[in-house]
Amino acid sequence: MVATKVGERAERDALETIRIRGARTHNLKNISLDLPRGRLVVITGVSGSGKSSLAFDTICAEGQRRYVESLSTYARQVMALLPRADVDEIEGLSPVISIEQKTTGSNPRSNVGTATEIVDYLRVLFARAGTPFCPVHGRALKADSVAGIVEATLGRPEGSKLMVLAPLPPGRNVREVVAEGLRAGFMRFRIDGVVETFDTLPEKLPETSDALEVVVDRLRLRADQRERLVESVETALELADGRVRIADMDSGETEDFSSRNACPSCDYTAGVLEPNLFSPNTPQGACPTCGGTGTVEAFDPDLVLVSDELSIAQGALEGWGREQEGNFERIAAAARALGVSVDVPWKTLSAGARQGILRGSPETLALDPPFHGVIGELERLRGDGDGPIARALERFRGPCACPECGGSGLGLTARNVRLGDTPDAKSLADLLTMPLAELSDYFQSLSLPESKRLVADRLLEAVRVRLEFLHNVGVGYLTLGRRIETLSGGEHQRIRLAGLLGSGLTGLLYVLDEPSIGLHPVDNARLIRTLEDLRDLGNTVLVVEHDEEIMRAADRIIDLGPGAGEAGGYVLAEGRAEELACNERSVTGRYLRRERTAPGPAPIDARAPDRARLELRGACGHNLKNATLRVPLGCFTVVSGPSGSGKSSLVNDTLLPALVARLQGGKRTPLPYAELLGAEELDKVVVVDQSPIGRTPRSNPATYTGLFGLIREVFAQTQTARERGYGPGRFSFNTKGGRCEACQGDGVVRVEMQFLPDVYVTCDICGGERYNRETLECRFKGRSIGDVLRMTVSEASELFQNHPQIERRLQALRDVGLGYVRLGQSAATLSGGEAQRVKLAAELARVETGRTLYVLDEPTTGLHFADVEELLGVLRRLTAQGNTVLVVEHNVDVMRAADWMVDLGPAGGEAGGRVVAEGTPAELARNPESVTGPWL
Ligand SMILES: [Zn+2]
Ligand SMILES: [Zn+2]
Ligand SMILES: [Zn+2]
Repeated sequence: MVATKVGERAERDALETIRIRGARTHNLKNISLDLPRGRLVVITGVSGSGKSSLAFDTICAEGQRRYVESLSTYARQVMALLPRADVDEIEGLSPVISIEQKTTGSNPRSNVGTATEIVDYLRVLFARAGTPFCPVHGRALKADSVAGIVEATLGRPEGSKLMVLAPLPPGRNVREVVAEGLRAGFMRFRIDGVVETFDTLPEKLPETSDALEVVVDRLRLRADQRERLVESVETALELADGRVRIADMDSGETEDFSSRNACPSCDYTAGVLEPNLFSPNTPQGACPTCGGTGTVEAFDPDLVLVSDELSIAQGALEGWGREQEGNFERIAAAARALGVSVDVPWKTLSAGARQGILRGSPETLALDPPFHGVIGELERLRGDGDGPIARALERFRGPCACPECGGSGLGLTARNVRLGDTPDAKSLADLLTMPLAELSDYFQSLSLPESKRLVADRLLEAVRVRLEFLHNVGVGYLTLGRRIETLSGGEHQRIRLAGLLGSGLTGLLYVLDEPSIGLHPVDNARLIRTLEDLRDLGNTVLVVEHDEEIMRAADRIIDLGPGAGEAGGYVLAEGRAEELACNERSVTGRYLRRERTAPGPAPIDARAPDRARLELRGACGHNLKNATLRVPLGCFTVVSGPSGSGKSSLVNDTLLPALVARLQGGKRTPLPYAELLGAEELDKVVVVDQSPIGRTPRSNPATYTGLFGLIREVFAQTQTARERGYGPGRFSFNTKGGRCEACQGDGVVRVEMQFLPDVYVTCDICGGERYNRETLECRFKGRSIGDVLRMTVSEASELFQNHPQIERRLQALRDVGLGYVRLGQSAATLSGGEAQRVKLAAELARVETGRTLYVLDEPTTGLHFADVEELLGVLRRLTAQGNTVLVVEHNVDVMRAADWMVDLGPAGGEAGGRVVAEGTPAELARNPESVTGPWL
């Protein structure tokens, strides 16, 4: 009896928990824990404490291995080569779906619509329920029935004199038609609107005609003529291949009908609508001009425009100012013809006038010589694209929206199918450019005709649900057409999250890597609700996260630590946020009970009268509305604002390229702005982002910081190396000579998988040492070069303590909190936050100028509270040396530590793009205009 009860409980526990016993992957210290199933669980801890080792390298890896074991023998053989997660057992594991940040390997053509499958549904929807329109006449194409045509004709006033005509396809041979018509017994035909009879054989007529109609019947309309009309209409439809024209002989007015979904006026047909037709990635669907990419190389007005603050005479358009006499004379004549002054700023001209100047107009073409617009004139100058002039003009050319498809990449037919048959009904291209929030409203209110509803209802429901999820994860400002590769890691992850919610799957284990990244606190609340929805569908949601709000919403927090690397890997505490806050052992708990708030030196006075400022005026790219960004030099400035409010457009797409072009001769074109002041106070600008260090996975912290060259010198000085004549090059894993050739110095070998990402297994020739035996025989203080690459920064510091140049760089790495990172660790295995700190360390180790601007975009991504403190310390050191730090950030601790803040808003997309407030954090907190203020 008792035994049974114990057995039952064990069974129930197994269903309710994921039991992990003896996990030792990487630095995990043989830990055991039970994760509650069907709950929202947060794993947290400082960088390097083992969060990813537990979530991804143990739980996900084991889930993936079990999945693959259910597949083919080949797959099982390959998996046998893989290092298994080092864990004694995991019980109660559901199928795992991991949603990481990295966007590697995404198809460059994929966009938000394809990634969320919404576009797949829309394609079917447009194919099944769309109405084709004639691209020329703008009429909805439909199949008129004979009864419908007769009914419409009988609806005309009684007594009307009518002709029933069969309009023949263009280019028919007149004589042939006449001969056939005579045989068939028709007496009359119309050519170019003039009625002729067949018996007066028309010598004067042209051989072929594009406007030839057989007169099938002539009648005076009476109600009892239904039978006769049916017969005549049927005859005309047959003669003219599905077309019939009713002409009023008195007024000359005509009405066209088509029995086969063709434009009655020009006979355009859309053919059978298939979903493929609505994909730019299929041969049937692609726009022939751009091949479906939506862009072509062409002269770009934005590249010709110098500044819209200047007048034409002052040189608003490069090469057309008063100083270029010949060109100026012509553009001035064009301006006169358009009634426009050449002495007012370009931006004050009407859109129509600007269009006339850039693209030409009937007025400018009437000039002698005709003026084809600045772009048209450039095209003519360029000619066939060869020769020195064409090359000189290359800099005005760039990828522009395809003139045929307007950037949608869709072919003619697809562009002219709409949902609904009124002229204002939307096409697929329209929907792809609508912000998701607006699109969601559109589909909520869309009602289709009864006949289409049956096929459309389920498709519409699927689209509506998915749009709702996208809105809830805080990306309502994006469009379906937005390319995936242009999204931030956080946006990409949230889109995948919305897609998974839309699939409605249940009983799964979702593992997410910091979904809160890049979210303003406003959007974060919605994200939390989304995670709860995912849980309430019956899934387990496991989140690696540092965000306080998400922790407070979690059913359980697992706090790993206490330190990084070897000093981490223990479970410090488990429980809800309030339980952790009472736990003395928990590092996270200390922050949750607000014991440690980010300290730091007194802020620098950003308003000091002698302080120089960098000022970017009149930025108006993307959604920016004439924004002015003021950055006090030598200070730490944070740019804040809700997602999509224009922070990135302002800093990354306008200020940065403008500054880089000024200081370092960069080639990227900034978004339009009026002027940039104060750049002369700076020597250079350094972007410290989270992209991987170096260009290949072969880069590592040692190569990036310049340590490796110094270490190779040390090895070349060892006794064995000197005896054998090995130079520093012998100790490189990038060149032949010293490295293991089996793996070409990688230490691992790639195995291609047919259905999963490629996997890497340890090289069995060198056993992962990366060098050949002879090279490894050279030892420094008993260590080989392979040993050194496996050392952590802290370990290496001891080994090289008598080499000041090496030690300075190692010290910088320790200062940014990377003492636990291994010198030879592949760039591919460093998190974004770690890569960023390696870059900061390289900067700290430099001989500083004090006149550098450091720009960081969301630098706290992936960082625990304790790491954020550390990062703030590093940034403070940079400003203490007189440098300027500009950070785009949502993290409230970072904002509070700033000397100066610039707040954009008030919302995302078109509702954003303005600087709503600026000042110290304390001032912003009191400023009712600031969206961010309430959180400070
Ligand atoms: Zn037409
Ligand atoms: Zn195109
Ligand atoms: Zn090898």
